[in-house]
Amino acid sequence: MYIPDYAKTVLDRLNGAGYEAYAVGGSVRDSLLGVPVNDWDVTTSALPEETEQVFRGFRVIETGIRHGTVTVVSEGHNIEITTYRCDGAYADNRHPENVVFVRDIKEDLLRRDFTVNAMAYSPRDGLRDVSGGMKDLEDRVIRAVGDAHTRFSEDGLRVMRAVRFASQLCFTIESATRDAVLADRYLLKNISSERLFSELKKTLAGRGVTETLKEYGTVISTFIPELVPLTEKDAALWEQTCRAAGTVKNDTVLRLAALFSSVGKDAAAEALARLKADRKTAETVTLLVGLADAELPRSKPQTRRMIHGVGEENLGRLLDLRRAMSAAAGDTDFGDTERISAWISEIAADGDCVSLKSLAVGGKDVLSLGVRPEDVGTLLNAALYAVMDERLPNRKNELMTYIKNLVSEEMPHEKDNPA
Ligand code: ATP
Ligand code: MG
Repeated sequence: MYIPDYAKTVLDRLNGAGYEAYAVGGSVRDSLLGVPVNDWDVTTSALPEETEQVFRGFRVIETGIRHGTVTVVSEGHNIEITTYRCDGAYADNRHPENVVFVRDIKEDLLRRDFTVNAMAYSPRDGLRDVSGGMKDLEDRVIRAVGDAHTRFSEDGLRVMRAVRFASQLCFTIESATRDAVLADRYLLKNISSERLFSELKKTLAGRGVTETLKEYGTVISTFIPELVPLTEKDAALWEQTCRAAGTVKNDTVLRLAALFSSVGKDAAAEALARLKADRKTAETVTLLVGLADAELPRSKPQTRRMIHGVGEENLGRLLDLRRAMSAAAGDTDFGDTERISAWISEIAADGDCVSLKSLAVGGKDVLSLGVRPEDVGTLLNAALYAVMDERLPNRKNELMTYIKNLVSEEMPHEKDNPA
C-alpha cells in the first residue's frame, strides 16, 4: 500500500519512541482503492501528551486534545494524530459524552462507522482489519461496523455518511445497513444543518450521485422537506432530478440547482437558508432554479440582454442545467442551447457591449446635457439596450444624439426601456 514519506516519518517517530502507530480511516480506504487521498490520519497508542513529546521540535497544533487529537505539521503537511480510543455513552445522538483512551487498536477500529473506514495500515505492522473491511472494499459495499441500528442511534450523522460514501465511492449499501439507513433516517433531524449540508454537497459531488439519490431520496428529504413532493410522491420526476444532478458539471452550485430544479425558487431559497448555505451559493442556486423553466434567449440581442441580467457565467450554468434537465427528460435535441452557446462565444470574442461599464457614454456625458441627475440611469440604460439590440453602434456621437433626442421628447419611449 502506498504511503507518502511525510506520513511515514510520523509513524516511524512514534514507533521509534516505543508506540504503535498506523495510518487509518479514509486514507487507508482511498489508498487501497487507488484513488487520491485527502488527508493522512494517524492512530496511535501514545497518549496526546506523549505524542506531543515525540513531536517536540515540530509544529504541533492542539486541535482536539480533549478527544485525543494532536495535529503535527510534517514536511508541510498537516497530519492528525489521534490516540486509540473508544467512545463513551452517547447523550445527544451526536457527541460522545466522554472519550476513553485505550491501548488496543482493535477497540479503536471498532468505534469507527463503516468497515471500509475501519482499517489501519503501517509499513512495519501491515494491515489491521478487524471487521472485514478489505472484503467489503473488494465487494464495493458500505457496511456498518457492528449493528447498524445501534451505530446510527449513537450518532445520527452516520445515516447521511453512509449515503455520502455510497455516492462518493460508487458503492452499494449492504442490506442490513441499508434497512437501518432508511428506518433511522429521522435521526437526521437532530443533526446540525452545517454537518448535513457538508455531507449533502459531498453526496452531490460523488460519482454515484444519480443512483444514490434515486435509492436514498427519502433520506435527503428527511432534512429537506421541500423535496418530499418528489421523493415520496412523484417517482418519475425524482428520477429525472437524480439524472440531471449527475449530468450537470460537478460544481456545488450546479448540482444544488439540479437538485432543486423542480421545486421553485422560493422553496429552494428556504431550504438553502435552513441549511445555512453561504449567501453567494444560495443566491446563485436560487437564480438558476428560478430560470429552470424560463424562456431562453431566441436571438443574439436577447442573449446580450440575458448576459447583462445574470452574467455570462450564470448564463453558461443555466444552459448546462437546461441541457441536463432536457436529457433527463429524454429530450436530446440541444439545438436551442447550442445556438445560444455560439452567440455567447461570438459576443465575448467581439467584445460586444453588455454592460454600462463598456458603453461609450457615461454618467458625466449625460449630465453635461443638463438632464436631472435622477434621470441619468434611465437614459444610460435606454442607450445600453439600444446598443445591445443593435439599434445603435456603441459610439459616443450616435449615443449622445440618441440621448439628446430622448431628453427633448422629455421622457424616454416606453419601448426603449429595459423590459
Ligand atoms: P474523507 O475523504 O471525506 O475525509 P474520511 O473517511 O477520512 O473521508 P472523515 O470524516 O475525515 O472521513 O473521518 C475520518 C475517519 O474517522 C473515518 O474514516 C472513520 O473511520 C472515522 N469517523 C469519522 N466520523 C465518524 C463518525 N461519525 N462515526 C464513526 N466514525 C467516524
Ligand atoms: Mg478524512
